[in-house]
Amino acid sequence: MIFPEKTPHEIKADLEEALLRAQPYTQQGHLADYIPVLGKSDPSMLGISVTFLDGTTVSAGDTQVPFTMQSVSKIFSLIVALQDRSFDYVFSRVGMEPTGDPFNSIVKLETIKPHRPLNPMINAGAIAVSSLVSGSTADERFERILDLLRRMSGRPDIQLNQAVYQSELDTADRNRALAYFMRDSGIIEGDVEEILDLYVRHCAIELCSADLSRIAAILSNDGFDLFTGEQIVPLPIARIVKTFMVTCGMYNASGEYAISVGVPSKSGVSGGIMATVPHKMGIGVFGPSLDEKGNSIGGVKLLEELSARWNLSIF
Ligand code: GLN
Repeated sequence: MIFPEKTPHEIKADLEEALLRAQPYTQQGHLADYIPVLGKSDPSMLGISVTFLDGTTVSAGDTQVPFTMQSVSKIFSLIVALQDRSFDYVFSRVGMEPTGDPFNSIVKLETIKPHRPLNPMINAGAIAVSSLVSGSTADERFERILDLLRRMSGRPDIQLNQAVYQSELDTADRNRALAYFMRDSGIIEGDVEEILDLYVRHCAIELCSADLSRIAAILSNDGFDLFTGEQIVPLPIARIVKTFMVTCGMYNASGEYAISVGVPSKSGVSGGIMATVPHKMGIGVFGPSLDEKGNSIGGVKLLEELSARWNLSIF
């Protein structure tokens, strides 16, 4: 039983109706062309997958199209870093507060003391988190994040998109600046280019919306695998990342989104949104046309529609 009162057929009809309402908004956005390869996506695409805690997935729209995780991956580098280091150590390097600034902003790094990035969901914070992932080689550190995503999605073939990775690495000067500034202020240590490389690599991990909804469903299920019952993400860590999804997951639109959708969510500039409705379902959305804050414009509309229709807000 998925929703006691709905059949999978009715659920699909709900998704299709929400899609129809959200679709026109895709025309009002823009692509994340600051990463040149992302600028080549089709802006009219929009798709959604929902995975319920019995393992059933229902999808509608453009759900076969793979996309890179971008900032959605920041959740998973944080999970690995929190498994590797103590809570206090991680949060001595990155804060827990929303910024009110764009995700790639540099301004508060200098003006706030200590010069610690405000949270792990902005670029500076996620780069600091990347520096905390353990492994004897750069490849090993990356494989650990990838492996977590493979286990959570049940897709052992999830891979890096080489073209997006290279395209971002070639144009990553803003992130490079953040990373060098943080090394200068003692927030990160070691080889900056290697840390940046790990960050850009995990952002370029490619999956599709059904993978994202399955991953999100495990977070909804307090970190337990839906089928085997194995605890993939420790409960306290699942709780921490879901809290960040509420307070900072949609960048400087997180407050507005908490009111209009009210579900812990994380977006990425490729147009992905991962949403987790506690103890109910995981949702994966893809729509590469973005609003001015860098969130999928059609995706946010779609989630607003669905949240209203299914009464999903946690508040
Ligand atoms: N890789 C992207 C960047 O660093 C991620 C940003 C995002 O998705 N908001 O710019």
